[in-house]
Amino acid sequence: MAFAISRRQVVRLSSQLRCLSTATPARAADVKRLGVVGAGQMGLGIALVAATKAQVDVTLIDASETALNKGLAFADKLLAKDVSKSKLTQAEADQVRARLSPKTSLDELGDADFVIEAVPEIPSLKFDIFAKLAEICPKHAILATNTSSISITRIAAATTKDPKDTSASSRVISTHFMNPVPVQKGVEIISGLQTSAETVEAALNFCRAMGKIPSVSADSPGFLANRILMPYINEAIICLETGVGDRDAIDAIMKNGTNVPMGPLQLADFIGLDTCLAIMKVLHEETGDSKYRPSVLLRKMVDAGWLGKKSGKGFYDYT
Ligand code: NAD
Repeated sequence: MAFAISRRQVVRLSSQLRCLSTATPARAADVKRLGVVGAGQMGLGIALVAATKAQVDVTLIDASETALNKGLAFADKLLAKDVSKSKLTQAEADQVRARLSPKTSLDELGDADFVIEAVPEIPSLKFDIFAKLAEICPKHAILATNTSSISITRIAAATTKDPKDTSASSRVISTHFMNPVPVQKGVEIISGLQTSAETVEAALNFCRAMGKIPSVSADSPGFLANRILMPYINEAIICLETGVGDRDAIDAIMKNGTNVPMGPLQLADFIGLDTCLAIMKVLHEETGDSKYRPSVLLRKMVDAGWLGKKSGKGFYDYT
């Protein structure tokens, strides 16, 4: 007996089969839908670059509707800039924008092949999100974090109550993008103890499809980039608080003397002072080495809510 099924049913069936599959998406082309959790400066950048370069559909999740709207308005601004510079045609920009689906619940990630988490640098928050992602996402999905400093092994461990069961933890990895994501080419790939070779391969391939140049580093406090960068920024803040130089002198000598695009205090404002403090705390606590003690002024500025560019005030005024 012959029977016919519609094209729509075929599409739905193939999507359901993909969600049931347990094979990790080894080729970047196997990633059809990316989930990004956190639509702040990093999450928004990751979503936009993935939709533009890797041309995947993106479910962009943020707990705050206001943050989502702010992020999407920023995406519109960046896309309009790309069109005005002839980097994209208006039709291409419209296609990229149409690939972004803003949502407020993690439950929307049931069809994601690859997820990148970019919520604030708070360990308990990330552990909670990864426990939920392991429940919600398909069994083949790669679960990546953009953490700046938290151990990938600990984040992976949060996906299960039974450490012998590595079905979810083997799919956890770090894809540590650099800020601003549309501009910086580098991305650090960091495995936890549980991460499988297939997961590493999938993460490398997907980051390359996003036009990035991956570097592999070890699951050690601060990994590579922040192990080197954060003590430099922290030392600049200590120089300010102890009067070795004022703000402009510190930024000018490093900018003009080491050929970097901005000085360390301005860079700290762009990164976010809360993020800088969180990373210094991890470096200090996990190594026990006093050379990583966070600057007192950095702590006070975070206490005051002066978080840098994102809050309108940091070492510079952005109002
Ligand atoms: P951000 O504060 O700009 O954005 C975080 C977003 O997460 C906010 O929009 C917030 O509303 C959202 N959020 C908070 N709780 C949530 C939840 N439970 N579910 C969903 N969304 C939630 O932070 P950011 O600068 O984008 O940093 C994000 C991550 O990237 C951090 O781990 C940070 O360490 C890392 N990182 C930051 C930089 C940088 O330069 N800022 C660079 C590399 C990595």
